[in-house]
Amino acid sequence: MSDIKQITHHIGGKVWDAKNANLAGQDTKQPRQGDVFNPATGQITGKVDFASVELVDYAIEVATKAQAQWRDTSLAKRTQVLFAFREILNARKEEVAALITAEHGKVLSDALGEVTRGLEVVEFACGIPHLLKGSYSEGVSTDIDVYSIRQPVGVSAIISPFNFPAMVPMWFFPIAIAAGNAVIIKPSEKDPSPINLIAEFWKEAGLPDGVFNVVHGDKVAVDRLLEHPGIASISFVGSTSIARYIYENGTKNGKRVQALGGAKNHMLVLPDADLDLAADAAVNAGFGSAGERCMAISALVVVEPVADELISKISSRMTQLKTGDGTKGSDMGPLVTAVHRDKVASYVDAGVNEGARLVVDGRNPQVSGAADGFWLGPTLFDQVTPDMSIYQDEIFGPVLSVIRVKSYEEGLALINKHQYGNGTAIFTNDGGAARRFQNEVQVGMIGINVPIPVPTAYYSFGGWKNSLFGDTHAHGTEGVHFFTRGKVVTSRWLDPSHGGINLGFPQNR
Ligand code: NAD
Repeated sequence: MSDIKQITHHIGGKVWDAKNANLAGQDTKQPRQGDVFNPATGQITGKVDFASVELVDYAIEVATKAQAQWRDTSLAKRTQVLFAFREILNARKEEVAALITAEHGKVLSDALGEVTRGLEVVEFACGIPHLLKGSYSEGVSTDIDVYSIRQPVGVSAIISPFNFPAMVPMWFFPIAIAAGNAVIIKPSEKDPSPINLIAEFWKEAGLPDGVFNVVHGDKVAVDRLLEHPGIASISFVGSTSIARYIYENGTKNGKRVQALGGAKNHMLVLPDADLDLAADAAVNAGFGSAGERCMAISALVVVEPVADELISKISSRMTQLKTGDGTKGSDMGPLVTAVHRDKVASYVDAGVNEGARLVVDGRNPQVSGAADGFWLGPTLFDQVTPDMSIYQDEIFGPVLSVIRVKSYEEGLALINKHQYGNGTAIFTNDGGAARRFQNEVQVGMIGINVPIPVPTAYYSFGGWKNSLFGDTHAHGTEGVHFFTRGKVVTSRWLDPSHGGINLGFPQNR
């Protein structure tokens, strides 16, 4: 038992200590807890505390007090903290990556890539003085000026999924904090440690206590964040059913909500594409992070007559992939939990039963890792049709489905009909076809010969249809907009010439 790490909340700049708390909830007695696994060994490595309603209320109280001061801290001082945080995160990113691999299972290089993409958003947020600049119009009427300003919304809740335990929270909190808000993060209970280390980095960077808080837990914590009047905005990322729930309930309670949901990303390959590059891209984007990426390619739509050739190139590349412990130089790690591995494997069974052709079967993989790890090897299906569950559902595992079509139009129609619209890619050497695709496809993020088109931090990330509920995408200028509210000021500095009574509606003169 002594090897089991105890993981708890981080509130008001401190690791939560139930003994010092004066709360009514069960956190002071026996907290509810969840198991944290090392997916590569299948062993329980940690126990994470689950917050009660009272603990969430306490975190909101702490954050509200801290935000009142932080919003009045000058941009110069706020930016200094951001720069300091950037330096610490950059210097210690390997530590964050190691925690990600230990609890999520993705290979170390991939975990490091995740932290680096999050770091980009921190760097973007360092430019907040420029991003918050308003506009000014002199003399809109005689002696009257008008200007606009943007102010923080207050306390922002961020609820994140297991698959990017560092990057997804970093899509939001650097901008929220830079803009003068306090944040409460409710990370996934499956890999809760990376965000606690990040909380320590903020403390070291000089962020005032209470501006960055972490509350671990489950639906109890999430529901309290959704209903508490002290929460101004909610940024959620996770499965579509929960995203819809968050959006409906958060907006009903008067909150600003951006809720990013699931995905089924299609890669359309035209016959003129370089098939070697397309095969590399399909393998990288299909099986990287064991397919547990919201921008993973899971549906490969191939315009005939090149499907046989492309499938052969993909399957030969798949034989080279090493599945195993993410700390030991593998290409692909385990899935996050045994339950998730079994769910993904059940889709492989379903594909076979529904009549798809199983080209590569990952159900009994050769792995370099412990026998009890949550393993599933890369899997490839051909002859998948739109009515099959392996095409319709988000599988979120290393399963790639090939759908053969006769034309660009047929492929496009398929993509546009799907319920998800997160990311998509086209592989072609025809600039006109690519341009037509970017215009016609109903998806939020598009790659042209780029399989995982995650926008850089100064653009915004987000899908269409059931992949995003709300009006605002993550980071970039849309992120700045989400975490601030606009005001417009009409001002006149009085002198005696401005006197006189006039009950008419003000007009510009
Ligand atoms: P999830 O929906 O199970 O969990 C997400 C968060 O919601 C977690 O913090 C979890 O604790 C909480 N939660 C779970 N059940 C809840 C409930 N009943 N009520 C309230 N809160 C609840 O998602 P996951 O399995 O952690 O992550 C995988 C999903 O996230 C996939 O669907 C993936 O596509 C999606 N995702 C989307 C994006 C995107 O940008 N669109 C990015 C990353 C992940």
